[in-house]
Amino acid sequence: MKKIISLILCAVLLCCMALPAFAADGKCGCGFSPIIYVGALGCTPIVRDAGTENEQMLWKIDTDFLLSNLKEVLPQISKALLTRNTQQLGDALVAFINASFGDLALDSEGRSKENVTTPELSVPRGSNHGPDSDYYFNYDFRLDPFEHADRLHAFIAQVKALTGHDSVKLKCSSMGGVVLSAYLEKYGYDGIDVIICRCSPLHGTAVAGEAFCGKVELNSTSLTRYGEDAIPFLETGAADDFLEGTLYALLDVLKGAGVIDGLCALGDKLIRDVGDQVYQEALIPIFGSLPGIWSFVPEEYFEEAVGFMHLPSSGGLHDKVFAYRNAMANIGDTLKAAARDGVKICLICGYNVQRTPLVTLWKSTSDGTVDTKYASLGATCGNVKEPLDDAYLCSLDNRTYLSPDHMIDASTCALPECTWFVRDWLHCNGNAGIDALFNLVMTSDEVNVHAFADFPQFLEADDDADTVYPVTGAPDAFERLKNHPSWLNFIRFLFSIIKSVFKNF
Ligand SMILES: [Zn+2]
Repeated sequence: MKKIISLILCAVLLCCMALPAFAADGKCGCGFSPIIYVGALGCTPIVRDAGTENEQMLWKIDTDFLLSNLKEVLPQISKALLTRNTQQLGDALVAFINASFGDLALDSEGRSKENVTTPELSVPRGSNHGPDSDYYFNYDFRLDPFEHADRLHAFIAQVKALTGHDSVKLKCSSMGGVVLSAYLEKYGYDGIDVIICRCSPLHGTAVAGEAFCGKVELNSTSLTRYGEDAIPFLETGAADDFLEGTLYALLDVLKGAGVIDGLCALGDKLIRDVGDQVYQEALIPIFGSLPGIWSFVPEEYFEEAVGFMHLPSSGGLHDKVFAYRNAMANIGDTLKAAARDGVKICLICGYNVQRTPLVTLWKSTSDGTVDTKYASLGATCGNVKEPLDDAYLCSLDNRTYLSPDHMIDASTCALPECTWFVRDWLHCNGNAGIDALFNLVMTSDEVNVHAFADFPQFLEADDDADTVYPVTGAPDAFERLKNHPSWLNFIRFLFSIIKSVFKNF
């Protein structure tokens, strides 16, 4: 008995001695590994001649800079419009785009001009970590995603050293998912315990694919809907509801009166007249030289885009653009392997928001910017505002992953158990309800679409209440008004009746 007691005492003593050693070896015992937030496109300013008197912010673009460039070409544009001189109009537009965006272009090796830099790149500092703080990782969105992956690798090592943790959580917003894809392709998921992707174009976005194939057109229905869907997210202050409702009504009246159709026809004529020149002399040389933008081109557009955008057939730029194709192709399988090895994964994407009204594929359901099918790695989706067609629904044997509004079937996703969908959620818009889901993902042992009672796979965003609710059925203007009485919802209800009576309104 004495022997046992002395053994236990020895064990206790050893444990006590181990405690200071545990602290002394720099390990943190808080149980919550640090969060690294990988920002979205435009997460850091791109500056020309930084630190000199000629310093000019190129991205996010400075409105005064844009206006001064526009002022330069306005006389030429007015003259061209009056004399119907399309060559002169094209010249003026090319001059404007080149003056505003030209210095963003990279060279044939995919390198920036030396005087165009990102002076505010982040470096991890301090050891403060926990559910409410993160280390912010930003990057120059134009460059090769693998360059960011290398920086992120060093960044993660620094964060681990600063905090005394062996792993980190990666929370990626929009283009942050592109950086993640390149990172996982090159470095794997060792030392990562949570991966969150918020509205990330993991398989690209149709707007980039179509724009890089020259498929640009204006469509009045999509333009009106785009405006309508963005209205609830306007920051209009105290008069919020009234202004939002009034704008909604105004948009619908303009559409009904044919004004928006007229504007689109004018826009389409402009694209036909000068589109080719603007592409050849401005858009292709600038945006076609950015591997970061190439990373948004979905696989089905890629080959055509390579031809249309005159991507060089060899050299640094070519190699960088092509290297990312592997990362994009492999991301689904890599995430599946990570999930099998215990990494907690949450992909979350918006749906039922009208997408950017400039492309032919305007019916693709999205968060307004990224198509739901690409952000979710393969969900089968109905057209925006429409359910999946009856033949598809009838053919489904298993409805576990079918949304209650019948708009999304998540069973075809790479990770149906780890992919959430939020109806009417505008791209990357802040929402306290979604943040609460992220907190659960980061603190729970079990993470999947059945694990959290308040957060099933299909959610609906309520921007006014700053939260999300489980989707229970198809969106209906009367239900929405009844549940959330507001001027905006009243106007929506009113126009839904008008539209059902006058089908072509
Ligand atoms: Zn800790």
